[in-house]
Amino acid sequence: MKRVDAGVDDPEDAGAIEIRGLHKSFGANEVLRGIDFHVAPGEVVCVIGPSGSGKSTLLRCVNLLEEPSAGSVRVAGVEVTGPDVDIDAVRRGIGMVFQSFNLFPHLTALGNVMIAQRRVLGRGKAEAERVARDNLERVGLADKIDAYPAQLSGGQQQRVAIARALAMGPRVMLFDEPTSALDPELVGDVLGVMRTLAEAGMTMLVVTHEMSFAREVADRVVFMDAGVVVEEGPPSQVVAAPVHERTRAFLSRVL
Ligand code: ADP
Ligand code: MG
Repeated sequence: MKRVDAGVDDPEDAGAIEIRGLHKSFGANEVLRGIDFHVAPGEVVCVIGPSGSGKSTLLRCVNLLEEPSAGSVRVAGVEVTGPDVDIDAVRRGIGMVFQSFNLFPHLTALGNVMIAQRRVLGRGKAEAERVARDNLERVGLADKIDAYPAQLSGGQQQRVAIARALAMGPRVMLFDEPTSALDPELVGDVLGVMRTLAEAGMTMLVVTHEMSFAREVADRVVFMDAGVVVEEGPPSQVVAAPVHERTRAFLSRVL
């Protein structure tokens, strides 16, 4: 068995995502039609694009929630679609935050951040609790440790979900429209946590419609439409001065 969790051959690769020739079809519906791009270690890449363009499918192929139809995906130097790959080990290195928070309603914030550490990583109670407290503090919820999800706002619940992902010690974080389900006044706190994470050097791939976040935090922005990357580059180019008509049309709808 290949030791994927320790299998980073080139330290330069650690944390990076490398996607080449990625195709994904659902039956006759070709959703991803040859995607190439990379996220360098410590880089923040925002993916933007219309609904149905394949953004979520792209993220789901990175952590193998969907199996690519063709192409390759490397995470931290490990070919996730390769033979003999330990999918569970790869997934442990990837933190995922979705639009819906999916917290356990019967567990406190602390319990929600502890449970996967205990079950998946096999950490002891004391260590899991210490890591959970540290990460809840990191997302600004030190005073909500004992609260149940129903006692938290959507923004606070999403921050618990981020703490839960961070507690697993991921090499990269994937975010799929993490603020889309939130009331507008709660969006800023979640984006603020993500910004702090970016500044701390976390490698992040973020699907978002928050153009101000993309403009201010992303190192690069990738515009997808109909399963292809239409345009990519620094936000000063893609968001502020897009070259392609399809990018301009999309931005004129969301800005
Ligand atoms: P986006 O996140 O950009 O809105 P998605 O990746 O969710 O786009 O979806 C792209 C296309 O793939 C849509 O047409 C959607 O219906 C289809 N699709 C996504 N997941 C599945 C699935 N599990 N089975 C069948 N079709 C799917
Ligand atoms: Mg989506």
